Amino acid sequence: MDLALPATLRALEDSAHAFVDERLLPLEEDPRSFGQGEHLREDLLATLRAEARERGLWCPQMPVARGGRGLGPVGMSVVYEALGRSRFGPVACNCAAPDDGNMLVLEKLASEEQKARWLQPIVDGEVRSAIVMTEPHPGAGSDPAGMMLTRAESRGDRYVVHGRKWFITGAEGAAHFILLARTSDDPRRGLTAMLFHKDQPGWRILRRIPIMGPEEHGGHCELELDGLEVPVENVLLGEGRGMAVAQTRLAIARLTHCMRWLGMARRALEIALPYVRERQAFGQRLADKESVQGMLGAAALAIDTGRLLTLRAAFELERGRRARMAVSAAKIQVADALHLAVDTAIQLLGAKGYSKDTPLEWMYRYARQARLVDGASEVHRMVVARELLADERAFFRWS
Ligand SMILES: Cc1cc2nc3c(=O)[nH]c(=O)nc-3n(C[C@H](O)[C@H](O)[C@H](O)COP(=O)(O)OP(=O)(O)OC[C@H]3O[C@@H](n4cnc5c(N)ncnc54)[C@H](O)[C@@H]3O)c2cc1C
Repeated sequence: MDLALPATLRALEDSAHAFVDERLLPLEEDPRSFGQGEHLREDLLATLRAEARERGLWCPQMPVARGGRGLGPVGMSVVYEALGRSRFGPVACNCAAPDDGNMLVLEKLASEEQKARWLQPIVDGEVRSAIVMTEPHPGAGSDPAGMMLTRAESRGDRYVVHGRKWFITGAEGAAHFILLARTSDDPRRGLTAMLFHKDQPGWRILRRIPIMGPEEHGGHCELELDGLEVPVENVLLGEGRGMAVAQTRLAIARLTHCMRWLGMARRALEIALPYVRERQAFGQRLADKESVQGMLGAAALAIDTGRLLTLRAAFELERGRRARMAVSAAKIQVADALHLAVDTAIQLLGAKGYSKDTPLEWMYRYARQARLVDGASEVHRMVVARELLADERAFFRWS
């Protein structure tokens, strides 16, 4: 086992840190940088995307032939973490959710014709995309295979879709949509994944759902599908393979969330550290107090543990394994580490931590989604426990 990074990856990591430090952190401090939903203004985003390309940081996760940097999951872990130190980093480099997960699943599973039409424009930054899976009660959430109500009826050369979806990140402003719908009642092969374009008739956005935290571009929307027609050539992987598409996407998408969140958790501590090094109380620097060291140590350790679990899952995915348990373990740990790091930083900054003078308050609101999005922590604990119950020896085996 060798955790040393190759020189090219270290250079890319340095470059990502430099982009964040030189360009993005100063913008975060300027209220004029923010547009709708407390996110980066669209016109500024275009400028930063051009700079990301010049710095060689565009689409680190996509093959070089497609215009990216060709990193696998292990390399992505390093670069995404560095970019995740700023909320603007991933979106500026075109590796933010949900486009990131959508690009990765299309690259892996789409046909060459589908890639040319649906994937390449996302990689080029010409369009944005959304994944359309979750439904309001009583429809699909934690258990999409068992509970999906949106139906796609086969009419020969096309499907006709009816249903309702919600929490569709980025739907307002997205052009390419990956939709999951029920095509039969088969318990294992009942769902099908298909692609549609925003200009097709038969669907609409009902509302942009107001949420607790800052939004992604395009918000989180509730949609109605009412007679949307999808030609059979827009089906991904074949009828009845929807859960295979969803699991392939979710494995890497959950892990890339972890990579970015680790960067945000680090940043929270970076904000707290100068303060505790300087601030005095009762004749002593905060940093010299044992209880403060205990808080910092616990948060740093939670981040480091999350990092190792993320790297293990990345390593497994890179070797073509499903890594289901490894991804779930990383997601649980990193979501908790993010909460702990941000909460610790707020506490150590005292009243300032509760103000809007630092990004900690929006990180705190943003972090709450980490234990829900792409699977609640309870569901991921269930995945871990099931592997343990199935075979405890295999569970603890080293390789
Ligand atoms: C910010 C944000 C962005 C999102 N973006 C998208 C998107 O782009 N596209 C999309 O399709 N969806 C999206 N989602 C939806 C997200 O994936 C779902 O919220 C998630 O899968 C949980 O489904 P649910 O909300 O229906 O919760 P439910 O399934 O109703 O579960 C509610 C709670 O029940 C508990 N629970 C559920 N199952 C178990 C279990 N097996 N054991 C123990 N407890 C359990 C958990 O505490 C869980 O939080 C987004 C959600 C958020 C918050």
